[in-house]
Amino acid sequence: MKCSDCFQQLSNYLDGEIDAGLKRELEEHLGKCHRCQVVFDSARKTIELYCDGKLFELPSGVRDRLHAALRRRWEEAAR
Ligand SMILES: [Zn+2]
Repeated sequence: MKCSDCFQQLSNYLDGEIDAGLKRELEEHLGKCHRCQVVFDSARKTIELYCDGKLFELPSGVRDRLHAALRRRWEEAAR
């Protein structure tokens, strides 16, 4: 899995729309890639703040803002 794929799947993961195989690949990539790990961790922390860890109940407005923020962060990390 490439970083760009990882990021794509991260969005699905946050939406709770990821299948078990992809989730495993994502977690495997996160184990090897610090950049994606940082983005993933900040996403999880943000979700915990908003939703008390309930990934499936993120209001759509919040989710869109989160995705935008993650993309910025991910692009910054690429430099
Ligand atoms: Zn990566």
